[in-house]
Amino acid sequence: MSASADWFDRARKVTPGGVNSPVRAFGSVGGTPPFTHSAEGAWITDIDGNRRVDLVCGWGPLLLGHSHPEVVEAVRETSARMMCPGGSTVGEVELAEEIAKRVPALDEVRLVSTGTEATMTAIRLARGVTGRNLIIKFAGCYHGHSDGLLAAAGSGLATLALPGSAGVPEAITSQTIVVPYNDLEAVRAAFAEHEGQIAAVITEASPANMGVVPPAAGFNRELAEICHSNGALMICDEVLTGFRTGPAGWWGREQQDSTRGGWEPDIFTFGKVIGGGLPVAALGARREIMEHLSPNGGVYQAGTLSGNPVAVAAGVTTLRLADAAAYAAVDAAADRVVELVATEFQRVGQPFAVQRVRNLFSFAFGDGAALGWSGKDEFGNASPINEAEVKRQESFRYPAFFHAMLDGGVNMPPSVFEAWFLSAAHDDAALEQIAKALPKAAEAAAAA
Ligand code: PMP
Repeated sequence: MSASADWFDRARKVTPGGVNSPVRAFGSVGGTPPFTHSAEGAWITDIDGNRRVDLVCGWGPLLLGHSHPEVVEAVRETSARMMCPGGSTVGEVELAEEIAKRVPALDEVRLVSTGTEATMTAIRLARGVTGRNLIIKFAGCYHGHSDGLLAAAGSGLATLALPGSAGVPEAITSQTIVVPYNDLEAVRAAFAEHEGQIAAVITEASPANMGVVPPAAGFNRELAEICHSNGALMICDEVLTGFRTGPAGWWGREQQDSTRGGWEPDIFTFGKVIGGGLPVAALGARREIMEHLSPNGGVYQAGTLSGNPVAVAAGVTTLRLADAAAYAAVDAAADRVVELVATEFQRVGQPFAVQRVRNLFSFAFGDGAALGWSGKDEFGNASPINEAEVKRQESFRYPAFFHAMLDGGVNMPPSVFEAWFLSAAHDDAALEQIAKALPKAAEAAAAA
């Protein structure tokens, strides 16, 4: 028995499913999750001594790769001085200043510890500012596990939602309207049906929690316009995309593109990269909105570990190192991996779509023309544009692909509905390992 299997057995006796976050349990791919012993740069080593290239990168935070020496040093130096002073520290201001400098559409930032807290607070803030209750979210977008955001769509386009989890009262999810992604008509219909009642629309800047589903060109701009003409706020969730897809997140990337730019959300949420692998997340907005938060305003929010100096040191150092060269390195690695995978899928005759925004991508399995996917990917393949289309894919092929990659020394996200994450540390040696593992994995997917 491997050491990982042994520890997984022990874990299951003391922790539900043996994990502290469900997708880590390998539920959709099967098998035993490796227990990590150590990780450095693009590589992760399990307690059985298997060393693999990591395409999970902590689910996004590790833009620079695992345990970048300067981030480690900042954590070491800060933690030796203080761990949890319970009052203000300089790093909190530095991190807020850096975020505000990169994202000129916001003035102020409130630091929290998780993305879930950031979006939960953003929604409370939007309700506090507008005095309205209803929220619109898109099917397939994930914004953390607060009650109102664990809503699954009912039938029809603009119906009030049913709970997406046991333990969530219908009274709460009935305040959330779920509509299909990339569907502005459904958003307009929801606003028309619930006139004067919608506080906010929350959307991932570019969805990456149903695999990556790019917003159609101009979708975010139109969405902002619909919100603003109806007196509602737009919450742009960049927990995953923020400071990963570009120096100013996916919002920043869209502003450089004339077919997409020219919009501002009212509230941003961030996480992952701004903590560099430690628990930091944030919400940010213009001053007039942020002034509604306690202690200045009536919308309450607080946290013992908010702005923790050790976590903030990792975030500040990560953002300091996330320069143009770092983004160019991640983008180049993504170009290469997409090309390698597409080439192998083509070689073995496995139909696919690449779902991609810059360095963030995933692959959907199947012949999109036959499956009725209504988008187009960069190879001219039909590609899915919303959750219903994504779910039509041949997801049964992924476990075979996943395990062949794992056996070939590549750690993949353990679900076909997750993005693949790269870092600036994914150098030629790492890419070569991926190239070596791919032929067998592509064959396994095609044969599944
Ligand atoms: N929003 C988005 C877009 C996310 O991807 C996630 C987590 N993957 C969250 C919110 C929740 O963040 P956390 O897991 O830190 O609570």
